[in-house]
Amino acid sequence: MRRMNLKKANVARSDTIRYINRQIVLNYVREREPISRAEISHETALQRSTVSLIVEELKTEGLIYETEGESTGGRPPSLLRLRGAGCMAIGVDLGTIRTTVAIADLVGRVVERETFETDPDVKTTFEKIAFHVQNLRGSYPNIEGVGVSVPGLVDPDTGSVLFIPYFKWRDWSLATELRAATLLPVTVDNDANAAALAELWLGRPEIRDVRDFVLVLVEQGLGTGIIFDGQIYHGVAGGAGEFGHMTIGKGAPVLCAAGSGECWEAFASERAAIARYESRRSTSSTSEVTFRQLLDKALEGDTTAREALRETAHYLGLGISNLAKGMSPEAVIVAGQIARAWPLIADELRDALSANTICSGLTSTLVFPSTLGEDTRLMGALSLVLARKFASVMTA
Ligand SMILES: [Zn+2]
Repeated sequence: MRRMNLKKANVARSDTIRYINRQIVLNYVREREPISRAEISHETALQRSTVSLIVEELKTEGLIYETEGESTGGRPPSLLRLRGAGCMAIGVDLGTIRTTVAIADLVGRVVERETFETDPDVKTTFEKIAFHVQNLRGSYPNIEGVGVSVPGLVDPDTGSVLFIPYFKWRDWSLATELRAATLLPVTVDNDANAAALAELWLGRPEIRDVRDFVLVLVEQGLGTGIIFDGQIYHGVAGGAGEFGHMTIGKGAPVLCAAGSGECWEAFASERAAIARYESRRSTSSTSEVTFRQLLDKALEGDTTAREALRETAHYLGLGISNLAKGMSPEAVIVAGQIARAWPLIADELRDALSANTICSGLTSTLVFPSTLGEDTRLMGALSLVLARKFASVMTA
């Protein structure tokens, strides 16, 4: 049982209880739609009249609607569904190369997006983000808020960016500035944290039921997001999840973003895989492949590309074995483009994982590829808004 934190405990006033019940009903409709009032009442042990009251409220707010189910003889049952377009969320995926600003409904369906190159000048990038958010805001009513995913360290309480290594941006009050520019609620988080949240809210059903998992985001760098008891674990000042810089050993093919050749990131990132491929390649081609090209080659059967990926998968598995030994999560999810090559890397990764967890006596940790596809970070940004909308106050 979780020990109550008296510093944070709120006395449950009747409006708090009403709010909790409302979130429970809303989440039942979101996860189990179509669902009847009677089923919700049966599963939650809330009184039928309470459920009906809340349903009326949610209908008035435009969050859910009613449809007719199949008749089993008598009057067809009335079923409840989430109204996806009733409210919209804006997601901003601030990447090292490109930034995407998109608007989606509450089930994560993107309806419009704009992409531009991220400018190394923080002010220029901010102005472009604010401009596109404002543009979308003008075209769609009922915007619930803005979620921003960034490749760096974020203070979870203020939404300020503490450090983005790629651009060397420090101490940027992103949430405050974007809130002032757009007058919308703004939530900012690290990209791997946001991606982990997206798996929790929008991912495959078997993941949504997992309360403790770690997401490994393999990109140019390597980040991890920890979901602990159904929410992001931030640590002090947002510093948790920096497993990308845990020491694996010497002899990595590249350096990590901070310049070390011993970090997990230097062994298992996209850049590491590219470097392995380039060093094996006999042709004297001048241009380096992109990771996307490397994946395509491997999927088409190129043995050099496959070897480069398999070696990278070995180090992914090695790092995951360290996470498993220290945290014993229910599952680990591998996200990023590399998930596309899962059938080519899964065996190598699992072999390295099991070979390195033997001494701890742990049974095997479940490892899945992400199913969020190319848009992992954007889905992460959108889920920051969803989590705020649907999360129960009981997690506070
Ligand atoms: Zn490092």
